[in-house]
Amino acid sequence: MLDIASNRPELPPEIARRRTFAIISHPDAGKTTLTEKFLLFGGAIQMAGQVRAKGEARRTRSDFMQMEKDRGISVSASAMSFDFKQFRFNLVDTPGHSDFSEDTYRTLTAVDAAVMVIDGAKGVESQTRKLFEVCRLRDLPILTFCNKMDRESRDTFDIIDEIQENLAIDVTPASWPIGVGRDFMGCYDLLNDRLELMDRADRNKVAESIEIKGLDDPLLTKHIPADMLATLREEVEMARALLPTLDPQAVLEGHMTPIWFGSAINSFGVKELMDGIATYGPEPQPQAASPRAVCPEETKVCGFVFKVQANMDPKHRDRVAFVRLASGHFTRGMKLTHVRTKKTMAISNPVLFLAADRELAEEAWAGDIIGIPNHGQLRIGDTLTEGELLYATGIPSFAPELLQGVRAGDPLKAKHLEKALMQFAEEGAAKVFKPSFGSGFIVGVVGALQFEVLASRIELEYGLPVRFDQSQFTSARWVKGERQAVEKFVDSNKQHIAYDHDGDIVYLTRLQWDIDRVERDYPDIKLTATKEMM
Ligand code: GDP
Repeated sequence: MLDIASNRPELPPEIARRRTFAIISHPDAGKTTLTEKFLLFGGAIQMAGQVRAKGEARRTRSDFMQMEKDRGISVSASAMSFDFKQFRFNLVDTPGHSDFSEDTYRTLTAVDAAVMVIDGAKGVESQTRKLFEVCRLRDLPILTFCNKMDRESRDTFDIIDEIQENLAIDVTPASWPIGVGRDFMGCYDLLNDRLELMDRADRNKVAESIEIKGLDDPLLTKHIPADMLATLREEVEMARALLPTLDPQAVLEGHMTPIWFGSAINSFGVKELMDGIATYGPEPQPQAASPRAVCPEETKVCGFVFKVQANMDPKHRDRVAFVRLASGHFTRGMKLTHVRTKKTMAISNPVLFLAADRELAEEAWAGDIIGIPNHGQLRIGDTLTEGELLYATGIPSFAPELLQGVRAGDPLKAKHLEKALMQFAEEGAAKVFKPSFGSGFIVGVVGALQFEVLASRIELEYGLPVRFDQSQFTSARWVKGERQAVEKFVDSNKQHIAYDHDGDIVYLTRLQWDIDRVERDYPDIKLTATKEMM
């Protein structure tokens, strides 16, 4: 069943075996626990608890990280690679808090599928819905894991109905739970006709798996009490009559999601979900780029930066650019063209993220995520190639929804502040605008919490206390148009003009009315709320 079914047969086996995905969920649904079990079954860690323990050791490093921990949010995203059967899984971590939606959005441009984790008692929660909508924009295939079935959970049909109605996607059961809450015994695997029995005694043990010849198999009566078996038969019969059957093509196109029921903490249902990712999660997919798309099977290497993380090691001012390889076979030491600057870069210290460790990447293939340490040359949206001038597209930058002025506590430190702000702008942690009039900067973010995060990072990483204060502006729009039209527009609207960290022109205002007026009075000018980073 796990044969690699490729729709592009010429894909090299090393690429065809890769599955690059993210987990989307509402905080507390079980993303961390599930990740840990993935790593456990992937052989990347020996014992559950390691990820958390390591994570915590790392987090105590600074107050900023403490803040992250206190709030139960993960500000820094990372990537993890591990093997499962003949597959190589690359799990890209999505920041969990809604304030980081832009970061999350970009993370989701680097994956080929998403696993949606929901809590069996709570169903589809707000953050899950938001992330789902982002996946939908890209028609990402989505596999669903309904977690915490060991506790009182909602009726199985209710959960499925809620997903179908709330998210407008067809749901097909890949497994069916037997019993609820304390009576939960395990699942009937509808795809493989197996009975999976949960072991409550040993949380790290893989479920006992028994091959069954359909629901009439007398073997079932040996394992399931008569009343529960009757319910199971009845429910599965109903499910088969009422719910759509699994259509792999519809899953690939993002119109249908298979759902597995399980309990991450009891390691239950996790292996079946991993088999599902291997079977229905696609191999690396083509990457949109200009002037042409990039296919993974191309022999030349192409990759794009979807995330930049600064100060991962507080002792060094290094930055790590997370690069998704879109094509080819990368080897360490390769010289790649940094398309934005047309300069050549020797990639001598690329890192792969294995479980909670990083290690030097001797090689990597399309679909993999590698980290490239650098001193700020690599920015979000940048493309690396073997010479061809290709620009990855579809990695947008959103107009911030909240603007504030920022000042250094000590006015003599204004230059330092500028440096810190530019770094965060490059990282994508905030938008920084320099107004064409007056002095100072305006910082824009998507969620209010980011101001706090920024203030504490600037203080910690640059020793610079800062103050944010109200700005006279509330909206920012990028200005597009022919050069002459733009110049004319800038000249007559000086009080509203600023420049972002790339030097692109931005129109600042506090009134929607202004934006409408510009659209009416300047038909040659376009104000946009997103800018493609390229
Ligand atoms: P995250 O916020 O989505 O990363 O969620 P965590 O993995 O940290 O889990 C949140 C809480 O739910 C933790 O206390 C877990 O121990 C608990 N949890 C996770 N999976 C299960 C499960 O299958 N059953 C039960 N009963 N609790 C679980």
